[in-house]
Amino acid sequence: MKIKTKEISHSLLKEKEIELFVKRIDLVSPFVSGNKYYKLKYNLLEAKKQNTDTILTFGGAYSNHIAATAFAANKKGFKSIGIIRGEETLPLNDTLSFAKENSMEFHYVSREEYRQKHTEGFINKLKDRFTDFYLIPEGGTNNLSIKGTQEILDVNDTQHFICTAIGTGGTISGIINSSSDNQKVLGFPAIKGSEDLEKDIRSWTNKQNCKLITDYHFGGYAKISEMLIQFILDFYDKNNIPLDAIYTGKMMFGIFDLIKKNYFPKGSSILAILTGGLQGNKGMNDRFGLNLPHNF
Ligand SMILES: *Cc1c(COP(=O)(O)O)cnc(C)c1O
Repeated sequence: MKIKTKEISHSLLKEKEIELFVKRIDLVSPFVSGNKYYKLKYNLLEAKKQNTDTILTFGGAYSNHIAATAFAANKKGFKSIGIIRGEETLPLNDTLSFAKENSMEFHYVSREEYRQKHTEGFINKLKDRFTDFYLIPEGGTNNLSIKGTQEILDVNDTQHFICTAIGTGGTISGIINSSSDNQKVLGFPAIKGSEDLEKDIRSWTNKQNCKLITDYHFGGYAKISEMLIQFILDFYDKNNIPLDAIYTGKMMFGIFDLIKKNYFPKGSSILAILTGGLQGNKGMNDRFGLNLPHNF
């Protein structure tokens, strides 16, 4: 698969003598959002091997993971079940309409129940109800997805710094595992509070060359501000590269802010991974009357 890497030009980069590249894994598939393609790859192969015909997973009503799983499962000939947090709202939003078009069956659970989703009791209840399925956790992160995200970097990605957005930590863990020791991997959590996240990432990786940059979550998961939205619109205007409001927009905002603050030594090169998530911009546009770029 050919992944495009593109250099970004900007007066700030020139002034600070920094090279910034973006790796557009968002272009891997318009429907399986960037990193989710890598996270699903070996899970779907394993499900085939186990002869299951149904994939079951979890997510919120705007989840990139739900959209990606519905599409990829359907394409590979699986049925899929989405355990969706919260009550059904009709008409379905764009994310869930898309998942439904890809034959996903929804099962709505209350927020309290949803919090139990990792427990044996809850999973046994699902097994009673849906008989045989292959379970993929929320956000799609398990050992097989990390095997997949290890394929995001390749031998050409030799920059000093690799930057990526973080949700559950599966993507950055794969990236850390395939980075070289003299590279530094910077993770930008999209959520507030990252103590557990550090622990999780440590359990999935065997290297120390990473650092979490926790100042750019903009108040928490899916929280936005006018400054962030303006940044995304400007970036699209200047570079014709779309960023999403939940993950890659916040990361890129953080990268530029750190460059301004001289975080990176002169002469550094940076590779930012564009993990996709653009279907989520549609939901943002609907809910907040915005005009963010999206891909389908
Ligand atoms: C899901 C997602 C992430 C987070 O990936 P994790 O493996 O959960 O850390 C980052 N960027 C985008 C666009 C995503 O959809």
